[in-house]
Amino acid sequence: MVGGNGLIIAIDGPAGSGKSTTARLLAERLGYLYIDTGAMYRAATLKVLRENVDPGDLAEVAKVVRSCEIRLISDEGGMRVLLDGEDVSDEIRTPEVTLHASAVSEVPHVREVLVDAQRAIGERGGVVLEGRDIGTVVFPDADLKIYLEADLQTRAERRLVELWVMGREITVEEVASDVHRRDAHDLSREHSPLQKAADAVVVDTSNLTIEEQVDRVEALARERIKKP
Ligand code: C5P
Repeated sequence: MVGGNGLIIAIDGPAGSGKSTTARLLAERLGYLYIDTGAMYRAATLKVLRENVDPGDLAEVAKVVRSCEIRLISDEGGMRVLLDGEDVSDEIRTPEVTLHASAVSEVPHVREVLVDAQRAIGERGGVVLEGRDIGTVVFPDADLKIYLEADLQTRAERRLVELWVMGREITVEEVASDVHRRDAHDLSREHSPLQKAADAVVVDTSNLTIEEQVDRVEALARERIKKP
């Protein structure tokens, strides 16, 4: 599938496994587009919450998500998320959105709409997409599939740092329980659960620095670029 525009690279894994940082820096090194698909599900969740729709009401959730416009735009820091033209990049990271994102992303129609959008952005190649179902559902023929994992404690500590930076006071136990709950939900849902693709390269980032994990996936990507 390697075209003139470059590879389609899929990075999947659970919350806190290092997907966003790795995908963003890898895209930067390769001069590729970076697509955070979780941000799209978060923007859809924000819309549902703003419209006061019960995340469990499948028909209403589908209607709201179908009628909104979610756009990702690249900027120096990585990527901004626009919901109906408004920059919601920070708001989609609040605990309330995080809490409801798994339920909204479970709605089949929401997945249909967002997966179509992800395919439209990525199909020409030269792209790094990160999420839960990129290598299994969105691009099952991706040129390179990476599955990142890390132990729960490490993932909770990483998320804790992100939340502290945002000024949230929360304990590591609370974060660990939230990460665990989201994993359980994402792994067990009926549609597009979090799964390792059979041909994914698994990288455990528990004991790797950011530099090391990006180096490792960059080496894999460069190998594929040389030998399609
Ligand atoms: O990656 P992030 O933690 O921002 O994703 C937020 C939520 O969106 C996840 O917990 C998951 O339920 C959902 N998601 C998904 N499929 C993707 C990306 C994210 O279902 N490809």
